[in-house]
Amino acid sequence: MNIPFMDLSGCYNEIYQEVSNKIKYLIDNTRFIGGNEVEQFELEFAKYCNTEYAIACGNGTDALTLALKALDIKTGDTVVTVSNTFIATSEAISSVGASVDFVDIDEKTYTMDPIKLKEYLRKYKVIKNVKAVIPVHLYGQMADMESIMAIAKEFDLKVIEDSAQAHGAKFNGKGPGEYGDIATFSFYPGKNLGAFGDGGALVTNNEYLANKIKMLSNHGRIKKYEHEMEGYNSRLDSIQAAILRVKLRHLNKWNSMRINNANIYKQLLNKNNNIITPFIRNESRHVFHLFTVRLTNRDNVRESLKKDGIATGIHYPIPLHLQPAYRYLGYKKGDFPISEKISNEILSLPMWPELKEEDINYVCKKLNDLV
Ligand SMILES: *Cc1c(COP(=O)(O)O)cnc(C)c1O
Repeated sequence: MNIPFMDLSGCYNEIYQEVSNKIKYLIDNTRFIGGNEVEQFELEFAKYCNTEYAIACGNGTDALTLALKALDIKTGDTVVTVSNTFIATSEAISSVGASVDFVDIDEKTYTMDPIKLKEYLRKYKVIKNVKAVIPVHLYGQMADMESIMAIAKEFDLKVIEDSAQAHGAKFNGKGPGEYGDIATFSFYPGKNLGAFGDGGALVTNNEYLANKIKMLSNHGRIKKYEHEMEGYNSRLDSIQAAILRVKLRHLNKWNSMRINNANIYKQLLNKNNNIITPFIRNESRHVFHLFTVRLTNRDNVRESLKKDGIATGIHYPIPLHLQPAYRYLGYKKGDFPISEKISNEILSLPMWPELKEEDINYVCKKLNDLV
């Protein structure tokens, strides 16, 4: 048996012909930047997200940067996020000149703990000039957006939802972008909605922000050579937009297949007291970008699974506050105990929509034998 961590070929087979025809058309007509495919994708993605506006851009990291820039976050401001995320979240904060800071997570869902956020803001809102918060909808499950929005209102914070892992996720029936000022997405190939290369988008219900983001993503341009402000070159290619339009129509089905696989995993692993399976809030539609379990002897188990042909991942092995890149912040071990504890225990198992039940059975059998 050989089970990869992720296999994108299943979904490619399903859309191959339609996508090839579209790419050929774009090449034949030399349509590479902007144009109909990008405009249509923006309309369709906004509709999918139930938001007024969607703006496509180069990747998920740029989407975060553009969001911060549009909200006028700058040097002298602090933006708070979580430590157990991909470094893109905090990189974007630094890239607009603002200071990065962290709060710990809730031990069940691994998303931002609203109580910790509130404690942090009581202490630091004024001294650190905290202007915005970026909750991360991790592994496919949204953070507790009702509580986070209430706190943001109380402390006058802008909210950017990092939704790179949560296309189609819901919290109380509402998705990313229906809570915060802006939600950002990545279309990196392995994400729930992935392009054939890099891509990203922002969604919002605010017309002013939508216009500003559109300008910022294209050199601050209002007309061809007229620039309202300095911006970025962060556009989605027409070919990627065309591919994403085809894939978007399958996203709900693919998410349901992920959820189905997660249910099979849970059924086979829940009896094992040494394995903690993902906790799904009552309010959540968790779209299982990743299926991440927790075990105490994680590294040994991972090695043994590898010998059995099973690939796994760790998302993420080193919390950001302990990364060399953030040494300058002066954090030490013990500062965010839950993020640190789970970083030693989490293990992401193979997960993609077409993953076969027999493969899940095999993974669970091996895992149950090991722990
Ligand atoms: C993938 C990811 C990003 C960055 O997206 P890119 O398109 O790779 O730039 C940001 N945040 C999180 C949580 C991610 O998983």
